[in-house]
Amino acid sequence: MTEPVVTRFAPSPTGFLHIGGARTALFNWLYARKQGGKMLLRIEDTDRERSTDAAIKAILDGLNWLGIEWDGEVIYQFSRAARHREVAEQLLAEGKAYRCYATPEELTKMREAARAEGRAVRYDGRWRDRNPSEAPADIKPVIRLKAPQTGETVIEDQVQGRVVWQNENLDDLVLLRSDGTPTYMLAVVVDDHDMGVTHVIRGDDHLINAARQKHIYDALGWTVPTMAHIPLIHGPDGSKLSKRHGALGVEAYRAMGYLPAALRNYLVRLGWSHGDQEIFSTSEMIEAFELSGIGRSAARFDFAKLENLNGHYMRASGDAELVKAFEDILQFLPQGPALQAKLNDTTRAQLLQAMPGLKERAKTLLELIDSAAYIFADRPLALDAKASAVLTPQVRALLGELRSSLANVTDWNAANTEAAMRAYAEKNNLKLGAVAQPLRAALTGRTTSPGIFDVLAVLGRDDALARLQDQAA
Ligand code: GLU
Repeated sequence: MTEPVVTRFAPSPTGFLHIGGARTALFNWLYARKQGGKMLLRIEDTDRERSTDAAIKAILDGLNWLGIEWDGEVIYQFSRAARHREVAEQLLAEGKAYRCYATPEELTKMREAARAEGRAVRYDGRWRDRNPSEAPADIKPVIRLKAPQTGETVIEDQVQGRVVWQNENLDDLVLLRSDGTPTYMLAVVVDDHDMGVTHVIRGDDHLINAARQKHIYDALGWTVPTMAHIPLIHGPDGSKLSKRHGALGVEAYRAMGYLPAALRNYLVRLGWSHGDQEIFSTSEMIEAFELSGIGRSAARFDFAKLENLNGHYMRASGDAELVKAFEDILQFLPQGPALQAKLNDTTRAQLLQAMPGLKERAKTLLELIDSAAYIFADRPLALDAKASAVLTPQVRALLGELRSSLANVTDWNAANTEAAMRAYAEKNNLKLGAVAQPLRAALTGRTTSPGIFDVLAVLGRDDALARLQDQAA
């Protein structure tokens, strides 16, 4: 029987859950689900200065919002420091690590000399074989790994292929700092081992660490997990992803009005493919996900593509679901409190009724909120510039007649108001547009809106007639 797959997402809580981290989490989650295994979550909070509770919260919230569920309790790396120390001491006792008493000044000199001579900057192993009796009394040592000095280190990476390092280029890395705190390199290896991680799927900025981590695994006689280093996400022009081009926290995408299912679908296609399929339901994603589908070149972030995908998910969402999404997003928006104050059973019902027309037109929830503004507008409506221009004195006079004709509609719905307006237009030799545009301006304060007869129906008879009255000459 093959061992069950265990993946992990291991963010450092020094910033929010950015888009690259979210994709790494997604890939780990999909792979674990596909293989019937588990995805664990480890918060790498060993950098006490830079780790914050706000960042931890943002990471957990972001994963929850995206629907990426980890298995079991969250593991906090810092709480495992004693175990990390124990492993360093064990390597020391086995002669696989040693105490290094080189002072910071010595190390600086070593680096400068290497640079001046154009050599790679690496620790020269000066305490590797030195007798500890020579140790200076006033220096607190670090513990370094006795890394192999000859031969090569090979990782058969599931994405990058066979990656080979010459060991002469890798130095004896620090496992434990002089203050007794473990380094990232040691902590990751010990945690991955203790957590039973079988597959490490992470950004390829960690590829070089894989070689160093393999040295630690080998020294401990532990099995190295399968590695998959995913190319980073680049901007649309191929350069490093900038804020403007999408290097934002997941919460920013939420506040921009993207749906979690759409963002998840967008992220899965960033660097991974399955034939030419673009749209994946969650179960389809899980079913199709293979590490072999991850490409070797950097994916490019494309806002337009994300928007289109989001529009697709908006149209495919149920109306009630979108009313809920509408309400949920308000807490993140500057205009949120004002709209929240206007949400009640009536406006919710109007929103629900308007939703089929609203969702056809909106690529994001923000666009949807914007086109739903007429529902929440106070009378008399503030008109935008274009709507003001439409409502000339002559048109305002026409509005009075349209109002009278609509007032005769007894059974108020889109079909009946449309019939009344068509009849009016025909009788007065007008095109339907010449009737619809003044109505739109008066009822919504704008010159674009969902279908005007839907707007009439959503507003209801009293409000619609009152709005027309407000603008009629
Ligand atoms: N904590 C590291 C980071 O956020 C990831 C470490 C790993 O995946 O091995 O970049």
